Amino acid sequence: MHVKAPAIQSLAGILRYPWETPPGPNEVVELRPGVLWLRQVLPFQLNHVNIYLLTDGDGWTMIDSGFGNEETIAAWTALFDGPLKNFNITRLIVTHSHPDHVGLAGWIVERFKCPLVMSQVEYLQSAYHQMRGTDERKEAQRLFFRRHGMDESLTDKLLGRGQDYLKRVSTLPASYRRISHGDEISIGTRRFKVITGGGHALDQVMLYCAADKLFLSADQVLSKISPNVSVWAVEPDQNSLGEYLASLASLTTTLPYDALVLPGHGVPFYGLKTRIKQLADHHEERCGMIATACREAPKTSAELVPVVFHKYPLDAHQTGFAAGELIAHINYMLNEGRLVAQQQSDGILRFLST
Ligand SMILES: [Zn+2]
Repeated sequence: MHVKAPAIQSLAGILRYPWETPPGPNEVVELRPGVLWLRQVLPFQLNHVNIYLLTDGDGWTMIDSGFGNEETIAAWTALFDGPLKNFNITRLIVTHSHPDHVGLAGWIVERFKCPLVMSQVEYLQSAYHQMRGTDERKEAQRLFFRRHGMDESLTDKLLGRGQDYLKRVSTLPASYRRISHGDEISIGTRRFKVITGGGHALDQVMLYCAADKLFLSADQVLSKISPNVSVWAVEPDQNSLGEYLASLASLTTTLPYDALVLPGHGVPFYGLKTRIKQLADHHEERCGMIATACREAPKTSAELVPVVFHKYPLDAHQTGFAAGELIAHINYMLNEGRLVAQQQSDGILRFLST
């Protein structure tokens, strides 16, 4: 274990990344006394997830568990035989129900006999993901994509992706302990405020320690990429982008500009408010592209995907997220009165700028 760079106070507003080099495999970096950072590999273009360990009495609280596959189990085993030898995990906090975060919760809880701590909605959503893949749900997703003009072969790919991706979890622990927005929890001598937010997940948990100005932002505010904000068939009219932007607005008004942000992916950074502004602007820019494209003639979501996502070709995994994200922008703009929906006799939704 080694400290790679000192944490220095930020100048207001400037984005800075004090640890440009992330921990490699079987490496652990100490960010602050009793705050450790390591990474687990993901089999996607986004190829890693951050895990944090916080000193907690005679043990450690782990934040997120990694993807539920054999590779991650092998990587954890090497860490617990190596740099984390004799580390006792006494509590696992999982920020949200996505498989790169909750995936190995069952394995960690089983190994350390520690409690799993989550928000109620994210625990139940994790249980829902484990149960998905029924024919009824696949059919609902197929009809949802059809209404948005996606062709059948793409839909098949997307459904294949959803099955693969969301099932990559070890068995979810049968019980959990709930944390909710506004709770205060102690981890070691630090006090953390629990903040939850929608958009990327339904009720994602973030933790803020005011005394140390440490903000564990999960996937809500990432350092260099924009978190996926999607709509799926289970709630076709969901305004996830509206929820996400509301959460960002709340974070920017309640947290200080000079907090050290520890995100779920990427590297720790300073400049929270600047990053939040960039993320909000990024979504507004996409809304602008959609508004322009829908001014002349009504468009389907499928027709708008290439308008917004230029980086082709997308693989099936990315295409799934791109479609879900595009529809999130549509629903937000419908909510804001910037688009109207038209349904013609073919049953496909088309959108026109107001
Ligand atoms: Zn993630």
